[in-house]
Amino acid sequence: MSTTKYIFVTGGVASSLGKGIIASSLAKLLQARGYKVTIQKLDPYINVDPGTLNPYEHGECYVTEDGAETDLDLGHYERFLNSPTSQANNVTTGRIYQSVINKERRGDYLGKTVQIIPHITDEIKRYIKFLGSKKKFDVVISEIGGTVGDIESLPYIEAVRQMKWELGTDALIIHLTLVPYLQASGELKTKPTQHSVKQLLENGVQPDVLVLRTEHQLTPDLKGKVALFCNVSKEAVIESIDVSTIYEVPIRMKDEKLDEIVLKKLGLPLGIEPDLKSWNEFLYRYKNPKKEVKIALIGKYVELRDAYKSIAEALIHAGAANECRVKVEWIHSERINEENIERKLKGCQGILIAPGFGHRGIEGKIIAARYARELKIPYFGICLGMQIAVIEFARNVLHMPFADSTEMNPLTEFPVIDLMDEQKNVVDKGGTMRLGSYACSLKRDSLAFTAYGKQKISERHRHRYEFNDKYLAKFEKAGMKATGINPDTNLVEVMEIPDHPWYLGVQFHPEYRSTVLQPHPLFVAFVKAVIENSQKNSI
Ligand code: GLN
Repeated sequence: MSTTKYIFVTGGVASSLGKGIIASSLAKLLQARGYKVTIQKLDPYINVDPGTLNPYEHGECYVTEDGAETDLDLGHYERFLNSPTSQANNVTTGRIYQSVINKERRGDYLGKTVQIIPHITDEIKRYIKFLGSKKKFDVVISEIGGTVGDIESLPYIEAVRQMKWELGTDALIIHLTLVPYLQASGELKTKPTQHSVKQLLENGVQPDVLVLRTEHQLTPDLKGKVALFCNVSKEAVIESIDVSTIYEVPIRMKDEKLDEIVLKKLGLPLGIEPDLKSWNEFLYRYKNPKKEVKIALIGKYVELRDAYKSIAEALIHAGAANECRVKVEWIHSERINEENIERKLKGCQGILIAPGFGHRGIEGKIIAARYARELKIPYFGICLGMQIAVIEFARNVLHMPFADSTEMNPLTEFPVIDLMDEQKNVVDKGGTMRLGSYACSLKRDSLAFTAYGKQKISERHRHRYEFNDKYLAKFEKAGMKATGINPDTNLVEVMEIPDHPWYLGVQFHPEYRSTVLQPHPLFVAFVKAVIENSQKNSI
């Protein structure tokens, strides 16, 4: 194919309608028809990236192979498409302004007044076209964060208007809206959609396809009415009805022919019939589990589940791989103490300690790690969760009172987790952690090796602290072994207790690499161990 086609996904009426899932589902269908597709998220906030955001603000920060700290929607893109994204797939207003201001300081604008139009919009377009310019993709889908009408997203909508004008049928706009159902009158209402499209039209943008999120089936009459009021063809009004899992959305979108109408409007051949065999097999396994287990997910942001999005999804993938429904018991680490631990974990057959930063909730996690170790309950510690396992072991097995991470207690007598050397002179908070993919070599006789089935692995990171090598001999002698090591720096990446059914902590983030078609081996092995434990006993 000669030219790259650009699809823009905007949203109206309300936030959280699932633009990311619609974009991912469309991309999945186009990919299944043989097209090379990538998805990009344009975020209107002024942070340069979401790395400095508290998870309560926007949920999890998703880390790419190349070490970019990005919006959690990129996780959906990777989980659906099974192909990696990069820094270029997430652009924020902060990044756009930063590069424009840098250019201005360099004198690149030759004395011109620097303005939103054309300079900011040009920069937005440059970031959008950059993915197309690599000639790797037939289609680039750009999801515009926020809701149409937000002041912050105006420059993006303007950039979309300009690109549509420049590219004609090589560009296409999909607008996602909500059709609310009024219980009292038993009616679905189209007015919010009409208003939302009017708002787009005020900005000079005419959507080509409308995706209507709804709790109830839309009648042909209703679709016809929306088509008439919004200047779109009737076949381009697509119903997106609520479903029990996001992984069903591609199937629904295929039934609604979203991919066909998009290809037709872009002047592209339909290609092969979408091959969704493995996807459907996954859905079948997910919906028809043969068993069920309950896993405690312990973290300090559990009120906002999006803070642990990739972990929750990885557990779903691993559950399906084991033909098992994984029920997650979300437990707030701050509310755990010695007295209530047994009650809190009642009915859970596995314990996962989530990543995190700072002191809040640490002691509850340490109590849970001890409980898992002593009662031989499968334990999976991720990043901070590995560090917690190490601190707990130091305090309760190695008799190092108040052993700690220097992140929590810089004055501890036993700094079993300590700041990495490369971090010692770092002052800025944004983008300065150890980020992205690094190699790790696994010891043959280990749970990790058994799970991966290979010795050389590579996983993504996001941390500043590490296991303090000074204590390694003591740990290993007492029964906690380092089974994964970075071959270049010697940094400990995996810790295990061999004398336990399944007790494993990883300094990296396996959850970022779990996809529908490639569930992560550690999550699969963990869930398997939990199933085995549940067959033996319940807590
Ligand atoms: N706070 C810890 C560190 O920086 C763990 C980070 C994490 O869990 N992502 O090393």
